[in-house]
Amino acid sequence: MPELVLRGGTLVTVGPLGTLTGDIAVDGGRIVAIGPDVGAGDQELDVRGCVVTPGFVQAHVHLCQTLFRGLADDMDVIDWLRERVWPLEQAHDEASLGASAALGIAELLTGGTTTVLSMETVRHTDASFAAAERLGIRAFIGKALMDRWEPGTEMVGEETDDAWADVIALLGRWHGAAGGRIRVALSPRGPRNATPEMWRRCVGLAEDADLVLHTHVNENQGQADRLGATAEGRDLVALESWGALNRRLVMAHSVWLDDEERALLRRHRPNVCHCPSANLKLASGIAPIPEYLADGINVALGADGAACNNRLDAFTEMRLAALIHKPRCGPRAMPAATVLELATMGGARALGVGDQIGSIEVGKRADLTVVRVDRAHVAPLAGSDPADQLVYACLPSDVTTVVVDGAIVVRDGELRSGDEAAITRDAEAQRVALLSRAGLP
Ligand SMILES: [Zn+2]
Repeated sequence: MPELVLRGGTLVTVGPLGTLTGDIAVDGGRIVAIGPDVGAGDQELDVRGCVVTPGFVQAHVHLCQTLFRGLADDMDVIDWLRERVWPLEQAHDEASLGASAALGIAELLTGGTTTVLSMETVRHTDASFAAAERLGIRAFIGKALMDRWEPGTEMVGEETDDAWADVIALLGRWHGAAGGRIRVALSPRGPRNATPEMWRRCVGLAEDADLVLHTHVNENQGQADRLGATAEGRDLVALESWGALNRRLVMAHSVWLDDEERALLRRHRPNVCHCPSANLKLASGIAPIPEYLADGINVALGADGAACNNRLDAFTEMRLAALIHKPRCGPRAMPAATVLELATMGGARALGVGDQIGSIEVGKRADLTVVRVDRAHVAPLAGSDPADQLVYACLPSDVTTVVVDGAIVVRDGELRSGDEAAITRDAEAQRVALLSRAGLP
């Protein structure tokens, strides 16, 4: 008998089965049966009247910045980095980083996100791994690699060999932990925040150990143009010269690619992570996602950090991703089903695990999000496509149950893998201590 059966939901599989009404049986962390009646399970959840989707995959977040929520609003991106984000990251200790990651993960899980690719800060990365392991999210986590930093800014990086030793130690401690749910990613902060030597080491290790490469690309127009005038050239030109422009690479933002970079994107097919809230809030611009999709580029979604969003939920990013391209490209651009695909399979493919997660299919890991659709802001349902409801109407608070790797981590809308009230209390206390260390009011 399977360990768990979700009984009678509207299953939006984002896979070959399309949308159907039926059950999902889960055993050993995997989906073992899908259909109108999969038989009894040791534990059964009645999800009749609810929509069940693959758990959302966010391919660009910063768990380390959740503690900065509300401290860096309405600022230019350069001031945002230098006056807030970098000093605050620099002031993190093990306890504040752990509190930040736990707060972020609690929000992500209760909002239906089951997998994240997170870029942390330079130090104390173990604390984020430990929070992910404890709270049950599927996580690809990398320390920010900054062995090339601008003197005089608040952020102090590391020597190449020191940073690399930390990467190797983290890989040994965490890669494959929790039955493969926790993985290490390699995260040079931006193409110019790491040396070419660091990039070459990352490319080699990513190939040898099958790791995700994660960075920020062409977020801000002024910065993209300024870097383009240097000898290394624009971001994608530089990345190509270091051998980093490949399918292992996840490029957050990718707002300001010029024609040469668009050609490089088509040739090498790295993944783009679209972060619409962050791009609007920091006034970065709107990435030409419909054009990337037309070129066959894999696109994922991400909330970025709480310092520039300020929420971390997938529903906000889906709704914005569906809306913001329409004034330029027409109402048929970015339909709901496409956006739901980006939020699930797009993320899974970006992380190189499209065969393991991202859709509801027999044999895949059981990462599932159950959403109630009977509230006043979603009803009525008759005759509509549930994907439209999910993308345009639902809120993170409509999530009732979340399963990751076969384990129920959210039930009745409440976190079961941790104590949300204790997590927010700890975040409040750690925030006060962090502000004091950073010398901020
Ligand atoms: Zn970011």
